Amino acid sequence: MTLSEWDIIDGLVQGSSKPPHRLGLFQSIGDDAAIFGNPREAKKWAITQDLLVEGVHFRLDWIGPEDLAYKAIAVNLSDLAAMAAEPRFLLLGLSIPPHVSTAFIRSFSKAFLGTCRREHLSLIGGDTCKGKRSLVIQVTAIGTISLRHALLKRGARTGDSLYVSGPLGASALGLACLRRGVKSPLIRRHLRPPIRSRFAQGLGRHRFASSMTDISDGLLLDLEELCGQDLDAKLDFDRLPIDRESKRLAARLGLDPTPFLLGGGEDYELLFTIPARKHTDFLRWCSKHRHKVFRIGKMIRRKGRQLSFAHFKKGYEAEF
Ligand code: ADP
Ligand code: MG
Repeated sequence: MTLSEWDIIDGLVQGSSKPPHRLGLFQSIGDDAAIFGNPREAKKWAITQDLLVEGVHFRLDWIGPEDLAYKAIAVNLSDLAAMAAEPRFLLLGLSIPPHVSTAFIRSFSKAFLGTCRREHLSLIGGDTCKGKRSLVIQVTAIGTISLRHALLKRGARTGDSLYVSGPLGASALGLACLRRGVKSPLIRRHLRPPIRSRFAQGLGRHRFASSMTDISDGLLLDLEELCGQDLDAKLDFDRLPIDRESKRLAARLGLDPTPFLLGGGEDYELLFTIPARKHTDFLRWCSKHRHKVFRIGKMIRRKGRQLSFAHFKKGYEAEF
């Protein structure tokens, strides 16, 4: 029997949380990033790491060095954003196989540092080695966060509104285009996901949200993380945000966009909950700063074992 990703992580969790090393650790395995720091200082550190493996997460005939460098940073910043942390430092690990040219690595490095500059990040270390088969890019991102502003996956209550920070499904539809050899502007949405750091930090600072995560695995899977054991989400299917380009492409390819919206993954938008008492102030703040947000449902008490949705469409039932 092979172990699932969660079996492996669970195995590591069991052994990792015991004293004496917990002093200064405020959030361990299980959230989008870990939080640690000096208990006497208000600002703590948030740290996260993502791997991009050739053949698993990307193909070199589909992505160029500039987009790859951007994406390696963006997916990590997404995890820091999901905690409402301010990104500060990066470490970069590279395992470079013979089929990757020095010109490619040069362009990658230039683009990596360019994105660092634009996002006010410093590259402070890493590791480089020769690889055998696949190009492997490992980025560790470190940010700052004060505990009272941090947004964890758990924290939503019954009645909280469920929001998403942008349209869904575009990245997965872009990937479908790459697979089919179809040209579309959506490909760019797959290669260059959004960075929602500023919006996330605002949400944290104003303490509008009760919980937050980022959508990397797909709306339904990441939503389960916010629900935990006690909550369910009632999704308003008619309000799931899809942009015009995605609708047009789905029609052109004869695809139902719904599975892309619900499970496509790699949207790297934020998924968060807003309690009723914060709702008015939150919406006022969004319109003042021109943050586009989409209310897609609300949190309810869990009755059965499964997530239940309004207007639940037959066919997706099987996924649960
Ligand atoms: P994300 O999609 O937000 O990057 P993952 O689903 O990869 O998060 O991981 C879920 C949690 O498990 C995170 O808290 C992550 O830090 C932790 N985790 C994943 N892989 C490992 C590992 N090999 N060792 C320790 N912790 C891990
Ligand atoms: Mg995440």
